Amino acid sequence: MINVAIDGPAGAGKSTISRAAADKLGFIYVDTGALYRSVGVYALRNGINTKSGEQLKKALPDIKVELVFKDGVQHVYLNGEDVSEEIRTPKASMAASDVSAVPEVRSFLFDLQRDIAVKNNCIMDGRDIGTVVLPNAECKIFLTASPECRAQRRYKELIEKGENVKYEDVLNDVNERDYNDSHRKIAPLKPSEESVIADTSKLSLDESIALIVKIIKEHM
Ligand code: C5P
Repeated sequence: MINVAIDGPAGAGKSTISRAAADKLGFIYVDTGALYRSVGVYALRNGINTKSGEQLKKALPDIKVELVFKDGVQHVYLNGEDVSEEIRTPKASMAASDVSAVPEVRSFLFDLQRDIAVKNNCIMDGRDIGTVVLPNAECKIFLTASPECRAQRRYKELIEKGENVKYEDVLNDVNERDYNDSHRKIAPLKPSEESVIADTSKLSLDESIALIVKIIKEHM
């Protein structure tokens, strides 16, 4: 199986670009952030402190997260319920960032990710795919863009969805999540040594997709 690892900070366009590249290559696209988001949503719904390792550890046996691919589109199920929409709110983003710093949460989701990669040609995106989840991936890409540029894109996305948000708040969220993700003790966000760094700040979406497809083809 061919495995492509795409890591990078929040809002770099990982999911949009990875999904489009996977389509062009006939691979499945696996969005691992959805797994952390689902655990975050579980915690929010059940009054669990998203920063408390103790509380989360206790809750894990009651959590079942599954990824189901329907016509190549990923759906995430939390205890049998499709939560693919609910995990996209700003609250769920922050909860995901919190719970992802808990080692037990990371190991809880590890096998699920590995299992998909063993069985499928896939592009998997996240924060630690090239460094931890798929260290032997054929191709590793670190996809990034400036914080302002990423905040602007996410802001536009949320406004289009009808969310009532301010640009400054989105930028603060991006900076806070970057800080959390790159300073945590376990699986911090950083490029692996073999990663190709792709900065999309000055590229259009189509140019970014073309660049990623080109990099992947060069590694196949
Ligand atoms: O990629 P996305 O924004 O959906 O990820 C939500 C949060 O989940 C991130 O802020 C990050 O803290 C966490 N995450 C992670 N490892 C991954 C994917 C996501 O820690 N592989």
